[in-house]
Amino acid sequence: MKRPEGLQPQFASDNWSGVCPEAWVALAESNAGHAPAYGGDDWTVAAAAAICELFETQCDVFFVYTGTAANSLGLAQMVRQTDAIIAHASAHINVDECGAPHFFSGGARVVTADTPHGKLTVEAIQALAVTPHDVHSARPGAVSLTQATELGTVYSPLEMWEIAQVAHKRGMKLHVDGARFANAVASLGVAPADIAWRAGVDVLSLGGTKNGLPFGEAIVFFDRALAEEFGRRRMQGGQLASKMRYLAAPWLGVLRSGAWLRHATHANAMARRLADAIAGVPGTRLLAPVEANGVFVDVPLPMIAALRERGWQFYEFVGATGIRLMCSWDMTPEIVDRFAADVRELAGANA
Ligand SMILES: *Cc1c(COP(=O)(O)O)cnc(C)c1O
Repeated sequence: MKRPEGLQPQFASDNWSGVCPEAWVALAESNAGHAPAYGGDDWTVAAAAAICELFETQCDVFFVYTGTAANSLGLAQMVRQTDAIIAHASAHINVDECGAPHFFSGGARVVTADTPHGKLTVEAIQALAVTPHDVHSARPGAVSLTQATELGTVYSPLEMWEIAQVAHKRGMKLHVDGARFANAVASLGVAPADIAWRAGVDVLSLGGTKNGLPFGEAIVFFDRALAEEFGRRRMQGGQLASKMRYLAAPWLGVLRSGAWLRHATHANAMARRLADAIAGVPGTRLLAPVEANGVFVDVPLPMIAALRERGWQFYEFVGATGIRLMCSWDMTPEIVDRFAADVRELAGANA
């Protein structure tokens, strides 16, 4: 595919990418005259069935436009307005959603721990799960994990299962923010169910946008009792798409073709290639293990400006000198290698 100059894949975010061909074709095919609105169409029914098949179980699936809506409406369904939601300090629900979980739940607050590499631990959850001041403190009603995490790491099925045990024993539900769920599946080489309901997950925000869809995420209820009346909450939240088929059809495109996992596998491989190519460059240091499609690396401050001057786009993320390099489904080895060569040259290493 020919790209106009200046629009090559960048490392800023995987949602800077365009739409993958499999989703694009499916979207175009769904543009076939009139079809029932509000999800009464064949594409929506088939896409929900395809997600059940992906997870090898009967679950309730709701399509929404954004990941923020998936997280906050899903969580609102799982907790009381007087509850707390336990999450990692870097969690999207804590720092990137303008308080949407609080707003949509009618008051539930997010409480956090800043454990290493973006991953909550059983110990941290247990410490947060106490309500030391009886009615004065919020009762934890849910744990929310991000899989893959905001620092490019993943939870193993066992880690998730252990967290689920602790959560359930204390009367909490387990939510997963899976904006990059496909990257976690690809990284772990497991069945999607192994890091979902088989690991004790009650509700999953299943990401599509960052993995090549034009828009749209799915809220997947494995605990189907929690889905009761959710259709109305989605409506109230302004997320019931009237032309739902356009949210649903791209899912069919990536699930039926296997592109869902293929693109995530490729994105992960590009991050691995990038990490290997800059390993050991003087003045740089990896900030977290590279387990999904992001590389988090500390670099000398002048290098940030110099890389930007050469046209590279990325987010400054952790402290003053930590940068985040995300690889999207359409990242290429050539671009990774060019970026790594620039890093080595700027560090005065063997360019
Ligand atoms: C991108 C992202 C989301 C979804 O963000 P929206 O912009 O609302 O679609 C949710 N969680 C994580 C961890 C993300 O990276």
